[in-house]
Amino acid sequence: MKMFLVMGMMLVSGIASAASLKEIETLKPPFKLAPLPYSTDALVAAIDQKTMEIHHGKHHQAYVDNLNKAIGKDKANLITILSQISSKEAAVRNNAGGHFNHTFFWQILTGDKEKQKMPERFEKELVANFGSIEKFKEAFEKAGTGQFGSGWVWLIRNDEGKLVITTTANQDNPLMDTATTKGKPVLGFDVWEHAYYLNYQNKRADYLKTLWSVVNWSQVDEFDREITKK
Ligand code: MN
Repeated sequence: MKMFLVMGMMLVSGIASAASLKEIETLKPPFKLAPLPYSTDALVAAIDQKTMEIHHGKHHQAYVDNLNKAIGKDKANLITILSQISSKEAAVRNNAGGHFNHTFFWQILTGDKEKQKMPERFEKELVANFGSIEKFKEAFEKAGTGQFGSGWVWLIRNDEGKLVITTTANQDNPLMDTATTKGKPVLGFDVWEHAYYLNYQNKRADYLKTLWSVVNWSQVDEFDREITKK
């Protein structure tokens, strides 16, 4: 019965686990909330079960529902909406961003120890771009902590093919034509209070530091290889 239910949900959603960036970018209306690619207690090393239930089941669901309302009869896929976001109303911008960002975020986290190992290829990329893994993490955490108010901290491949760290406010992201630093996301941490408040209260820096323990580096590497064709 449970298996039947899970398979049914996967068929309905189209995305359950190991999605490519292209799959997320080409999601089409009516948008749906895909199930998490793991159980809500899979990330307890960094994120408590209640936060996962509310974050996915309530917040992400609301972005999906409000996006469907905001687009009206527009049938454009997610990447088309994001790349033309400067011409859209605020409700589309906030909720299209919210749907993309969260769909992406669930993919780059995992409770699976094997997937948490950083592939050597990607480790070399980080070292080449930032000097060392420690320097990269430090800069990423600093950017995330420094983002005033709600937003995201990203690692992206910019148009010159370099890995760079950037932040966006609210539910904006580097795929939007309004972004000051544009590129394709490889990694992104949600720094909204709803992502960490139950467990960490106001201590965003502690949340960011702990989140490394549940990053799906295998998936991050796959996103990067998809972008760079390596
Ligand atoms: Mn969120």
